[in-house]
Amino acid sequence: MAKTTAHIISHSHWDREWYLPFEKHRFYLVKLMDALLEKLENDPDYKSFHLDGQTIALDDYLEVRPEKFELVKKYIEEKRIIIGPWYILQDAFLTSAEANVRNLVIGINETKKYGPYSKLGYFPDTFGIYGQAPQMLRQAGIDTAAFGRGVKPTGFNNMVSDSENFESPYSELEWQSPDGSSVLGVLFANWYSNGNEIPSSEEEAKKFWEQKLADAEKYASTPHLLYMNGCDHQPLQKDLPEAIKLANELYPDIEFKHSSFEEYMEAIKNSLPEKLQTVKGELRNQRTDGWSTLVNTASARIYLKQMNQSAQTKLERLLEPIATFAYMNGEEYPEDYLRFAWKQLMQNHPHDSICGCSIDEVHEEMVTRFKKVDQMADKLIEEQSEKLAAKINTEAPAGFDKAIPLIVMNTAGYKRHTTIEKVIDFEKVYFGEMPLQEIHGYLKNKALPKLAVVNVKGEEIPATIEDLGSAFGYDLPDDKFRQPHYAKKVKVTFATEELAAFGYDTYFLVEKESTVSLQGIAKEGNILENDYLRVSVHGDGTYDVLDKVTGHELKAVGSYEDTSDIGNEYMFKKATGEQAYTTKGLQANVKIIENNASRGSIEITHQFEIPAAAHEELEDLKDRVVWHKDREARRSDEMTTLELKTILTLDKQAKGVAVKLAFNNTAKDHRLRVVYPTGFTTDHHLAESAFEIVERPNKPEMEWSNPSFDHHQHSFASLSDGKNGLTVATKGLQEYEVVEDNTTLAITVLRAVSELGDWGYFPTPEAQCLGEQTAEWYVIPHAGDAISAKAYEAAYDFQIPTICVQTDSHDGELATNGQFINWESNGLVLTSIKRGETSEDLFLRVYNPSDEEKTLTIHHPDHVNYYESNLIEEKIATIGEKYQERPVGPYKILTVGMEGVN
Ligand SMILES: [Zn+2]
Repeated sequence: MAKTTAHIISHSHWDREWYLPFEKHRFYLVKLMDALLEKLENDPDYKSFHLDGQTIALDDYLEVRPEKFELVKKYIEEKRIIIGPWYILQDAFLTSAEANVRNLVIGINETKKYGPYSKLGYFPDTFGIYGQAPQMLRQAGIDTAAFGRGVKPTGFNNMVSDSENFESPYSELEWQSPDGSSVLGVLFANWYSNGNEIPSSEEEAKKFWEQKLADAEKYASTPHLLYMNGCDHQPLQKDLPEAIKLANELYPDIEFKHSSFEEYMEAIKNSLPEKLQTVKGELRNQRTDGWSTLVNTASARIYLKQMNQSAQTKLERLLEPIATFAYMNGEEYPEDYLRFAWKQLMQNHPHDSICGCSIDEVHEEMVTRFKKVDQMADKLIEEQSEKLAAKINTEAPAGFDKAIPLIVMNTAGYKRHTTIEKVIDFEKVYFGEMPLQEIHGYLKNKALPKLAVVNVKGEEIPATIEDLGSAFGYDLPDDKFRQPHYAKKVKVTFATEELAAFGYDTYFLVEKESTVSLQGIAKEGNILENDYLRVSVHGDGTYDVLDKVTGHELKAVGSYEDTSDIGNEYMFKKATGEQAYTTKGLQANVKIIENNASRGSIEITHQFEIPAAAHEELEDLKDRVVWHKDREARRSDEMTTLELKTILTLDKQAKGVAVKLAFNNTAKDHRLRVVYPTGFTTDHHLAESAFEIVERPNKPEMEWSNPSFDHHQHSFASLSDGKNGLTVATKGLQEYEVVEDNTTLAITVLRAVSELGDWGYFPTPEAQCLGEQTAEWYVIPHAGDAISAKAYEAAYDFQIPTICVQTDSHDGELATNGQFINWESNGLVLTSIKRGETSEDLFLRVYNPSDEEKTLTIHHPDHVNYYESNLIEEKIATIGEKYQERPVGPYKILTVGMEGVN
């Protein structure tokens, strides 16, 4: 038996913002870094420091002390400060698949200005991790991961067991993705603070090591024991070399060394037992009692998740594709701006940030960051799409001389139909063209001619055209002073014909008397109906949804239920035995509010009376820092009324019903959910996660004692009995639960709590989310399950708008309609099309959500060299030239590089 080695790794887990706002935490980071640099300079026995796996800590320090750059770089080069690979320590479930990739790609690129980076998938505090992480890491050249949560070690005499009850007997395990790729995983079985503050006096050191050696040996499969010398925001232990020297004197049979992950991982790899437990897929604390999963961060401050969903979608699904198409047609790609925008967005992705589990000041700053990303994305989308529009021939079809071209661009990567609702400038009058005081009235009162929308062939498309009067506006030309004007505004609503994948089409607003019939989508009796669906609304606001393709009907769905929440930002807890309030049977006001050929909407208004807050006994529980599990508090006797305004919208070609809820939240300490009973009998369900549509059991494992069994989703969750299914897609509603004997999907639309939780009492009044709230989701009935029915495409239809550009009539090198990239996804799910971070090649990324091999086919561009890339945009295999096919194995992530596009 080899000599036992205690690897002591110094670190400080750095939540950038949490129980203090960013600048106050940074104040302590600067102190820590100052102390570290001084120690490294003066004490050769202080070997190295692991800088928490995130490069942003360097930016945060060097912004204050830019003169320290060279010194920092020197120690990074000497591997005494160990950095990367991430840019920030993100939450794994509340950020998109691509956001997780960018965190790695941008993080690794950031390290290049300093020196080497740590090839360890470091997730010290992450609140559970998605199942494709091993595959992602492997595709970035990383074969080990370390994490603090998600797996329960059992530590039973260090015996490897085949019993299902033992998740892993060791802190070392093989962690495997659904495609079969795996990494060596190390669980911080005794947390990442098990070597914190090591005593340097004999008596205390003996006491310390006696306990710590036993704790580590309990889980270690090798003679190499891991001691993490640090904790959250832990200051530097300056006498660590003395403490290590003392330990070596006290325990001559053990070697205590100031180590690094590189040394430790190398050592354990050389002495692992023959058999390690393989843990497959997601690490979500499935085998625990369920009280510490932190899963309800998915519903803390939902407004943050909504803003994040919008920002991610704009960057990944609109801006990057549209900029790629412009780049393919000779325009410059805005890579600097994109990187800057991504970094801003990712600053909101650390686990204490996007999870909404910090103090109010933290989340106020996040809102500003989200708004900045939105501003950049909107401006760049506008610029890139206008550049593309300028290259497209928009000459009107024969017979129409006065036409306003509207180009519709589909960045979603699959063919689709959509309803366009576009406000256009019908006529502009610039200041100076008319006396200023007269312009507004002139445009407002000018009658519109007879107008209609036609396609490229000159065929009329049913459209609704509304005069919105006159409004002030301005142009900002590239080479001239700003140009103020008024414009006559016209709103045009129409359903497009089929849009090709990565395609575009041009429609024209023309002077013409309409000759098409405009049969509305809404019908008497509060019904919405198109070719696919029929929605009938009941008096209590629930509705039946008939899938006209399968004939299956969902009955009385969409009621709301409200319960108390006496937990905190991390965890939901309702009082034992409490009955939920429901809108079922509560008379609602139901009326049709929009009805035209391309769209119909019904508004449902409920007066929903619920308790105004938790009983004041909750205050005492919070003051005494009683753990959420042990809390019991009633709801108050005082009631408040929520006026819930729900709008159901059905578009002409839509395969789902869009739902938008708006209300003024006047209640505290509660959770509001929308409920979809399906009647499907099933023991599992599907949900979208990072690079997978993951299957999860409807019922927890036997260890679970939390009465709630909530889950995370990216954009949808889905129930199916194999024959019929229901997928509910959302915009930023990321918490759901399967309830009522496995048949009902409940989606959280609001969770209101008043404190952070964790290690003390931190009041967070803004987490009550008082005031105006909105929530949006999309109800998609289908045949089969979400994968076989490609329900994810309908879900993305809901999340990804098309881009509609008003332009003028001009000649162009691109045809009036067409495809920028011609490919067939054949059941693969697209996550990205972009230009490289550092190369001029294009990268298209897909994953296979199924257990069958699929084939990616690209027909165009046909003048490039195709290759297979890894996740960090390095070429790993040549594919070939021209028309290409590439098989994609079950659950595989594939990135295709395209060289020579531009
Ligand atoms: Zn943390």
